[in-house]
Amino acid sequence: MENKIAIITGGSRGIGRAIAQKFHDEGYEVIILARSAFDDPNFTFYKCDLSDLNQISNAITDIYSKFETIDVLVNNAGITKDNLMLSMSLEDFEQVIQTNLTSVFYISKLVSKKMLKKRQGKIINISSVVGIHGNAGQSNYAASKAGLIGLTKSMAKEFASRNIQVNAVAPGFIDTDMTAKLSEEQREMLKSQIPLKRMGQPEDVANLVHFLASQHADYITGQVISVCGGMSI
Ligand code: NDP
Repeated sequence: MENKIAIITGGSRGIGRAIAQKFHDEGYEVIILARSAFDDPNFTFYKCDLSDLNQISNAITDIYSKFETIDVLVNNAGITKDNLMLSMSLEDFEQVIQTNLTSVFYISKLVSKKMLKKRQGKIINISSVVGIHGNAGQSNYAASKAGLIGLTKSMAKEFASRNIQVNAVAPGFIDTDMTAKLSEEQREMLKSQIPLKRMGQPEDVANLVHFLASQHADYITGQVISVCGGMSI
């Protein structure tokens, strides 16, 4: 395989890290964007706060000065700021939308320009089962993840004529820092609602993302595929 180039946002930990590792193992040149410094010679790292559109622009400009094209963009970075809606501040609502959704619109717009020229590319957005079903205490997060699904389907329709496939992956309950915040009681309650009766691992998501980025998925676009142990059926 020729050395394809993939950008993975939030590739420093959790699901993003597993995606970055999988792509590296499969021969991709991997570029990671995240806020905290990250030192691994296998990856090219850009320190970038995705909630700041100027930082995104600067990172992508620099990436294009070093790499001619980008073959794959995985929009994985995401945050939660949970609260019941009546107690949620507007600031917490907007911050989650900015990081999880607006940044995806913005970075995809920049990266897709080169993909459109090349008439080839794959964009994979990491949504959530919560974006499909909603969740009490996560109105900001669920809105951002549902928004990603609408964005994915619209981009898929706009870019299909240029041979760019855009899909969303909706993980269920995956074992990462994000879910480590939950109490043991909450974890047991969530596990009991999963038909496979266990949490997923970041690699479960990474395997699907890698497939969607490959030529085996050339005829798949605009889809939302869950990796959730049967939680969302
Ligand atoms: P983690 O909290 O473990 O990792 C989040 C990653 O995103 C980190 O690399 C973090 O790096 C990066 N990130 C967060 N905010 C920013 C920002 N403003 N700018 C740049 N990078 C940022 O989360 P997970 O691995 O669990 O989640 C990954 C994705 O999967 C998220 O979109 C999440 O919503 C989604 N998801 C996760 C599920 C789960 O059960 N874990 C379920 C469903 C969906 P840094 O802090 O250094 O910036």
